[in-house]
Amino acid sequence: MAEPLLSIRDLCVDYVTADGPVRALDRVSLDVMPGETLGIAGESGSGKSTLAQALIRVLPPPAVITGGSVVFDGLDVLALDEQGLRDLRWKRIAMVFQSSMDALNPVITVGEQLTDTLSAHGAGQQGRERAGELLELVGIPAERLTAFAHQLSGGMRQRVGIALALALEPSLVILDEPTTALDVIVERDILAEIRNLQRARGFAAVFITHDIGRMLQFSDRVAIFYAGRLVEVGPARTLADEPRHPYTRGLINAFPSVHGDMRKAASIPGSPPSLRTPPPGCRFHPRCPHAMEVCSQRQPELVQIGPRHAAACHLLISGESA
Ligand code: ATP
Ligand code: SF4
Repeated sequence: MAEPLLSIRDLCVDYVTADGPVRALDRVSLDVMPGETLGIAGESGSGKSTLAQALIRVLPPPAVITGGSVVFDGLDVLALDEQGLRDLRWKRIAMVFQSSMDALNPVITVGEQLTDTLSAHGAGQQGRERAGELLELVGIPAERLTAFAHQLSGGMRQRVGIALALALEPSLVILDEPTTALDVIVERDILAEIRNLQRARGFAAVFITHDIGRMLQFSDRVAIFYAGRLVEVGPARTLADEPRHPYTRGLINAFPSVHGDMRKAASIPGSPPSLRTPPPGCRFHPRCPHAMEVCSQRQPELVQIGPRHAAACHLLISGESA
């Protein structure tokens, strides 16, 4: 079997606040294979963006990586110095945020931004021609190289953000809510284009969205987070058809066939806990319809339950079915 492109092991991130540390990621382990799309799902505050930012070490203070490892293509990311990080970001791992479309420089043209990015990383030989190709790649005619950001729609600006991310041919692109601010048609078109680009160029993606339907359609595998912990991970189709963790079932049952927003999963009673004082044992137990005595006493570990499919729930260990 191929080696993972990205290997995350026991990753912990704390937000160090005046009232004490808040553990936003608790011993998270995940792999991303070359060329695959891993979707990250979970309600608001579950740690999705913290994970995305930790992977390329752009976590804002007061967040601190307090344990674990991140290995990308053989590189120990947590041990890299500033120069090592500069070489990693954009060239090897690029990121597209929801706000990428607002991050374009308003006083220079789109073409200048693309050529600046190319030349800043020593790839500017072909200059304008390459910038035009990049724009065409994301569905914008090369004539728009002379446009300024304010002359483009939100969808086009986000496409430029994607072109910038792909400029240096990274092998992993992190997409953190890349289309959340756009309307449904534009979103669908952009995601389809990203998928086509992935097939053509072979880069892997980590994809974060609130839309569980889109997530299942767009991803090869999906990882479900709850209150800073990974609770289930498996092939997208398996999770759609046979989710095994009660929380995953709640999320998916809330949106059975159409895409929907899971900022708050309506079918699951209650809300996620504060990470300052998380419940003991399984963090989902106060909301879980299947909670047993052991659930509030012991944290369930992730166990393998099928090919590339794992979940953390005492029901799966005790053999009882939900
Ligand atoms: P959303 O879907 O709303 O973007 P998310 O799943 O991406 O949420 P994160 O933004 O990664 O979640 O936040 C995870 C947790 O980290 C939050 O629940 C919160 O407890 C904690 N957190 C995030 N930012 C801070 C901060 N600046 N100070 C203290 N705690 C924080
Ligand atoms: Fe529910 Fe217990 Fe499984 Fe947690 S461990 S999801 S509380 S059954």
